[in-house]
Amino acid sequence: MAGTVLVCGAINTDLVAYVDRAPEAGETITGRSFEMHGGGKGANQAVAAARSGATACMLGGVGRDDFGDARRAGLAAEGIDTTRIQVFDDVSSGVALITVEASGENRISYIPAATLAVTPEHARETVESVRPALVLSANELSLACHQAVFGWANENDVPIVFNVAPYSDEARKLLPMVDTLVVNRGEARALLDEDDENCPAEELGRGLVSLGATRVVVTLGEDGVLGISGDELVHVAGANVHAVDTTGAGDTFCGAFAARLNEGASFEEALRYGNVAGALSVTKHGAQPSIPTRTEVERMRSGS
Ligand code: ADP
Repeated sequence: MAGTVLVCGAINTDLVAYVDRAPEAGETITGRSFEMHGGGKGANQAVAAARSGATACMLGGVGRDDFGDARRAGLAAEGIDTTRIQVFDDVSSGVALITVEASGENRISYIPAATLAVTPEHARETVESVRPALVLSANELSLACHQAVFGWANENDVPIVFNVAPYSDEARKLLPMVDTLVVNRGEARALLDEDDENCPAEELGRGLVSLGATRVVVTLGEDGVLGISGDELVHVAGANVHAVDTTGAGDTFCGAFAARLNEGASFEEALRYGNVAGALSVTKHGAQPSIPTRTEVERMRSGS
């Protein structure tokens, strides 16, 4: 049986206010409706990995508050090990306050709070006791936490799949420690200081290889995904789906891709599987509700 996938990142609550127009400074307006969702790239990726059949353990942080309690319960209900989530008495859980105007324009205030409070000591202790077979990380915990986890993984020959999302300059420091770097086009361009919006995916991928990761994956939205591993270059075309909400597609890809790799699937097979999982996730609303199960991905792949 495949070992544990340790998923590192944020466990957030998205609070979404739907309004006709956003308030001006000092103004109060009456909105139309409100929704609350579990979010955070890390948590989304853990859910995606678990629904694809991985034994997943979450490394992250929450406050001892209602949001944190709800998020931990939600992840546990997915079968994810939540015992390594650091719980803080004096720091709040991560939240994203999202205002969506009738025009679709949105404004987001993100407060990472507990996610950035996770200590490198806790991270190191977690990785040493969980002894994962694979590490999957979004770019949300502190650099010191990443160094603790990635350092252990390198010492123990455990592969790291690192999704540099959201992008940060300091993430570059981690790339030589990484087995597989996963980024979308925007993150790839940021890492390469590439201004050209139309820079071909293959050029982006080859540029990224020079930053230090062993393998590179560039996700291309409806155009699918490109993977480079040594001399091997694989482009998997996007699956033909009707997209209604692309939120969380990258997270779904990462979790599904990592779950398949962890089972011993080849790089190409993991890319193909993740590509279909990502495509299915855009056919429904919401990030976590739209993440497909293994059965749903296999059904789409077999065309039944
Ligand atoms: P992100 O959400 O990080 O911007 P992408 O938009 O590149 O990431 O989506 C991740 C993956 O999800 C893509 O590589 C592709 O496999 C799948 N995907 C996303 N959007 C679509 C779409 N409209 N049609 C088919 N597949 C899609």
